[in-house]
Amino acid sequence: MTSDHNEYDKLSIVGTGELLLNHSNPVLPSYGRPACIFWGNAMKSAMSPQSKLPDVGTTIFTVIGQLSAEHNALNLSQGAPNFSCQPALIESVAKAMREGHNQYAPMSGVAALRHALSAKAEALYGCKYDADSEVTVVASASEGLYSAISALVHPGDEVIYFEPSFDSYAPIVRLQGAKPVAIGLSMDDFSIDWDQVASAINSRTRMIIINSPHNPTGAIFTDFDIERLTALTQNTDIVILSDEVYEHVVFDGERHESMACHPQLAERSVIVSSFGKTYHVTGWRVGYCLAPAELMSEIRKVHQFMMFSADTPMQVAFAEALADPQSYLGLADFYQQKRDLLAEALSESRFELLPSRGSFFMLARFSHFSPLTDDEFVLSLIRDHQIATIPLSAFYSNNKPTGLIRLSFAKDNDTLYEGARRLCRV
Ligand code: GLN
Repeated sequence: MTSDHNEYDKLSIVGTGELLLNHSNPVLPSYGRPACIFWGNAMKSAMSPQSKLPDVGTTIFTVIGQLSAEHNALNLSQGAPNFSCQPALIESVAKAMREGHNQYAPMSGVAALRHALSAKAEALYGCKYDADSEVTVVASASEGLYSAISALVHPGDEVIYFEPSFDSYAPIVRLQGAKPVAIGLSMDDFSIDWDQVASAINSRTRMIIINSPHNPTGAIFTDFDIERLTALTQNTDIVILSDEVYEHVVFDGERHESMACHPQLAERSVIVSSFGKTYHVTGWRVGYCLAPAELMSEIRKVHQFMMFSADTPMQVAFAEALADPQSYLGLADFYQQKRDLLAEALSESRFELLPSRGSFFMLARFSHFSPLTDDEFVLSLIRDHQIATIPLSAFYSNNKPTGLIRLSFAKDNDTLYEGARRLCRV
């Protein structure tokens, strides 16, 4: 791709025959839409496979990342730090490589890392996971989510999840021949309506996917959520899949409600977490799952055939890094300062900022000063103001406009100041 706008004209659409992107009708290309896009110079093939995900396009993070690069925009879209990790961590990986940790790791993960994770879960959340049978290191939290859903959800099952949601949950459920059941979070404070959950649960409900701290809204689970989730799932065979990748990014002194803190929930939960988010290395693709042995043995059956194991030198380095609890306990303050810096720098803007209680994200409302859809608004921010964000509608299965955009503050302070300066001009 080049930075020439006319490059869009080279897009050809296969599927609906509908041209999604042109200059008179600017919408974002491809994500969540019934088409796939090939660039002008793509190889032609007579093959037309029957798609398993016919209505899915390229993820919003990729689409916005490409548009951002084309327009030389500042990127506050993806939840990926633009600053470095601790140099010692890189040194530690390099040392592991030099020392010969370059072949397959054990399928379940390097033993020292599994033991360190087990000790961390016990110290922080009071739950003892057996390092041999209840901790698995996976090749990214995304792989952990995929392995867990694929291992535990069967064709015809229903899986409840909450929208807005991270974009991978529902497609993974559908790939199992199961039905994702979306429940909308309250548009006021993005809380869960548990009565709605109660009425959605039936004999086919196999899993509930939760995510706290929440991407994209920054909401966190409360005591009340824990109480209702416990009551609704007890005496059922519903598995809870808990995406806790932002477990160490909870603000204002509040506590992270891990499923591991609550024995009645822990016994039916698969917790998925991430080293990438915690150590500023999202490209290393190492995460982990915690779950009771009965669930974990099924998850490992999928993991072993999907990835077999995660990268070895990184695992050795993370085992060393976990020995210093400050390496993760300091993260909440670190990101809280970034959240506050961005909010302060945007205080004179026309945006209404919604509270963020955790994660790398905050939502900003624009609907009171612009009639555009989220997609159109995001595109205009990229083109006219060189600032990239994510439309909240991308986190909904119906892509309905919400009047909100997601800002990522996992960026160095200069980027946050400059991003805010550009947003203040809108
Ligand atoms: N979790 C990151 C976000 O929400 C991005 C993940 C991805 O790019 N697939 O921004």
